Parts: sequence; structure tokens; C-alpha cells
Amino acid sequence: MGIRTIIVILLIVLAAYLIRPRLRRGKPRPADSADKTMSPASLVQCEYCHTYIPLTSAVRKDGGYYCANGHRAD
Ligand SMILES: [Zn+2]
Repeated sequence: MGIRTIIVILLIVLAAYLIRPRLRRGKPRPADSADKTMSPASLVQCEYCHTYIPLTSAVRKDGGYYCANGHRAD
């Protein structure tokens, strides 16, 4: 292995080390954390009319969400 190869490898490692933290910082993923924890602002789909409504105003029945009491299947 020549000295040039070693220098090139060192430069690649150094470049990767310098670039990596920037990539991590540049990729904020608020969507990921929002998916894991169902926040009250989450949208749910009405089983009856398929309209998306905020979780806080949704009517829940048998694990399904409905936009109004009238759409809740009896
Ligand atoms: Zn509905």
C-alpha cells in the first residue's frame, strides 16, 4: 500500500467525519416523532365519509373514528 493510498483514505475518513454531523443536523424529522406519539393535532379519517378530521373532535366507536355522531355506525 503506497503513501498516496493512505493519504486518500485518511482524506475520505476526514471528509466523512466532517460531513456527517452536518447531514444529521440538516435532516430534522418532526414527522417521525409525530407518528410515534398520537398528538391531539393528528388527523384521523371518518369511517363513513372518509373525511379527515382532528383527533380531538373525532367520535370514536369500535376502534374507528367518525366525524359526527350521525356518521357513527350503529
Ligand atoms: Zn363522516
